[in-house]
Amino acid sequence: MREKPVSNASDLSSPPKYDPKSARAEEFISHKEIMDTLAYAWENRSNGPLIDDIIAKARAGKGLTHREAAVLLDCTIEEKNREIYRLAEELKSKIYGNRIVLFAPLYLSNYCINGCVYCPYHAINKHIPRKKLSQEEIRREVIALQNMGHKRLALESGEHPEQSPIEYILESIETIYSTKHKNGAIRRVNVNIAATTVENYRRLKEAGIGTYILFQETYNKEEYKRLHPWGPKSDYAYHTEAMDRAMQGGIDDVGLGVLFGLGLYRYDFVGLLMHAEHLEAVYGVGPHTISVPRLCKADDIDPREFDNGIDNDTFAKIVACIRVAAPYTGIIVSTRESPRVRERVLRLGVSQISGGSRTSVGGYVEDELPEEDSSQFEVSDRRTLDEVVRWLMELGYIPSFCTACYREGRTGEVFMDLAKAGNIHLRCQPNALMTLKEYLMDYASPLTRDVGEALLRREVEEIPHERLREITRKNLTGIEAGERDFRV
Ligand code: SAM
Repeated sequence: MREKPVSNASDLSSPPKYDPKSARAEEFISHKEIMDTLAYAWENRSNGPLIDDIIAKARAGKGLTHREAAVLLDCTIEEKNREIYRLAEELKSKIYGNRIVLFAPLYLSNYCINGCVYCPYHAINKHIPRKKLSQEEIRREVIALQNMGHKRLALESGEHPEQSPIEYILESIETIYSTKHKNGAIRRVNVNIAATTVENYRRLKEAGIGTYILFQETYNKEEYKRLHPWGPKSDYAYHTEAMDRAMQGGIDDVGLGVLFGLGLYRYDFVGLLMHAEHLEAVYGVGPHTISVPRLCKADDIDPREFDNGIDNDTFAKIVACIRVAAPYTGIIVSTRESPRVRERVLRLGVSQISGGSRTSVGGYVEDELPEEDSSQFEVSDRRTLDEVVRWLMELGYIPSFCTACYREGRTGEVFMDLAKAGNIHLRCQPNALMTLKEYLMDYASPLTRDVGEALLRREVEEIPHERLREITRKNLTGIEAGERDFRV
């Protein structure tokens, strides 16, 4: 582990004014506003009447401000906490039904010029094997992912102007979309690459990406500087303002996240919601997703050397509070979490999970480098996608491989308006069932197929709208006969 640089306590003496509409990171993520919010939340952590009012507001499904959500996060009244969890479950089920969207990460390259102290891809790690996939290797990875049944990927790459310039990322996206093996197809590519320019975001949009995902890691500027001592990512403002540039480049589905375990979780929770409020205030649409990764063990990274790890109960509370504060924002949990933890947070609000993931470059193709060699972190859920799909169904969920909204142009504000009006649900249910049917026909083990077919028979009858029920029945028969890619 490298030595941590001394923190540079610089410009906090004259705090920038808090302004959610500002284009400046330090104004829409105001340190003072976060500190005031944390003080307010702490003072009111056992203020029963206030907590009741906040819960009542959240129950209406209109979301909460960062201040209100912070009070719920700190709430110490057990009975109220149970109510918060119940409400998170209710909102989850009302808005998302029992559908869970599945995806997998695809690591393109682990060359990196940054010095992030928590990530094994940092430039001075001489131990980790460096690897960048050629287009032919990408094609083989994509075929392996298609053969598992995946339809939706999250593209991951280290930051390196020579090894993975934007042209390489764009070419890779083209390779992924054009690779078609048997009935396989990747229908949505989300992208998690370093902060870049408006022009590059425009090119990513033109390449047909789904969500642009970028984790803030921590919203605390001083902590951020300590954790990113050098390299382009050390520029806090450039990183924090990336979603604004993405929006200006035409990407209207953006995914936020912090890496829990780095900074103080209460601070980052508030920062995350302030970031969402900023996007809503300026662009009329909040984040499409929020990810909640926790720091994991990795090549030369030991999470125990970081002071701010959070336990499973705190993690669950964070998920529940995000769900009630931002009811229409998808929440993503990855294979960083164990099956047990995933089961718990699925109930409380998570709507998308990865499955069968490899976090190494080239990890989906057998006989490549041993997986742990180039991996970014060790996964906790090592089950196959088939096992994850069956597990979800046994828990009463519908695993969904749906990518319809983005392909029908239902993104950004259009998506949010439909979601808030409660209309998206009508389409999601049939689409989830039809994509699950494709999975069962093409990729599932006999046991998973049996469980899935029984679920389909039950769930088709639950579609409330008669015409959609009929269309779904007809399309399921079509899929059985070999047709693919239906969507409503
Ligand atoms: N290079 C891009 C960037 O800097 O944003 C892409 C990010 S990286 C491939 C994806 C994410 O993995 C990072 O944003 C970080 O939050 C997370 N990550 C890095 N090291 C990790 C670790 N040791 N455990 C868990 N997650 C980690």
